[in-house]
Amino acid sequence: MRIAALAGGIGGSRFLRGLLHAVPDAEVTVIGNTADDIILHGLHVSPDLDTVMYTLGGGAHEEQGWGRADESFTVAEELAAYGAHPQWFTLGDRDIATHLVRTQMLGAGYPLSAVTEALCDRWLRGTPGPGVRLLPMTDDRVETHVVIADSGEPRAIHFQEWWVRLHAAVPAERIVLAGIESAAPAPGVLDAIHSADVIVLPPSNPVVSIGPILSVAGVRDAVRASDAPVVGVSPVIGGAPVRGMADAVLRTIGVDVSAAGVAGLFADILDGWLVDTADAGAVQGIEKNGILCRAVPLLMTDLEATAAMAREALDLVGHSP
Ligand code: GDP
Ligand code: CA
Repeated sequence: MRIAALAGGIGGSRFLRGLLHAVPDAEVTVIGNTADDIILHGLHVSPDLDTVMYTLGGGAHEEQGWGRADESFTVAEELAAYGAHPQWFTLGDRDIATHLVRTQMLGAGYPLSAVTEALCDRWLRGTPGPGVRLLPMTDDRVETHVVIADSGEPRAIHFQEWWVRLHAAVPAERIVLAGIESAAPAPGVLDAIHSADVIVLPPSNPVVSIGPILSVAGVRDAVRASDAPVVGVSPVIGGAPVRGMADAVLRTIGVDVSAAGVAGLFADILDGWLVDTADAGAVQGIEKNGILCRAVPLLMTDLEATAAMAREALDLVGHSP
């Protein structure tokens, strides 16, 4: 079975790990969000690609969900001693090696897709079965910016600054995908969508993780036009995101913070949508929009629970593993 998945960071990678456990013989292509990418201390950081890469490769910090296991912070301490900014984003020593390789290769002229493939050669080579491929959504630079008006005049800041430094506590007036108009899908992205047997939307942030991927020229149309069923998993349970502050970005774009609200955001592409048992009351309303819907436990508490979610998602659209 060929599966194409559109993924952000923590929610996306955790789900993908369960999916690979549920269908070890599947050929999975992950199309990763790069709109969170940021240059820090001269280094090109791709937080969502790295979270997928480390998580699937067994190198992620388990409890935290992002960054490397067994991490140390000597470089960050030295940077702070110099008063180097920004100080709201800390890079670990092991993690920095990834960003050094990426930055150096980009500087030498390789596109991000080739750089990602090179980095993944270390992490994903050993995955069981036909394996998993990680593609950036685009090789072009796209950055999510958030317009805030904390001191009167509206100003745009990088999404990471709003999310990490301000904890999304300052209301976002608008979310802007800078560079998206001229971004082309990275090599392999449209092919993966066209040749998939199933297209999966993991429980990633619908606005700033899956949203940017679908906004790259031609991607949303390709997903909609695909013969393969599209099935998604709600990141919202009982009116709140399971983790993080996705409610803040949903409110900004005027979407109800509910499993049904998120389904509505993807209504044009979805064939199936899983909601948590706590949201069983929403199933009928979602089905009225022509989307198959089922209520099952959606907490990714461990690998088995997550694999069960993945099986339910595939089963809902007739692709039982
Ligand atoms: P990020 O890029 O690291 O923020 O990660 P993603 O965009 O991939 O995923 C973030 C989303 O994952 C959040 O909106 C969470 O609600 C969702 N999430 C995290 N853990 C769980 C879980 O156990 N179950 C479900 N259904 N969603 C989860
Ligand atoms: Ca992210």
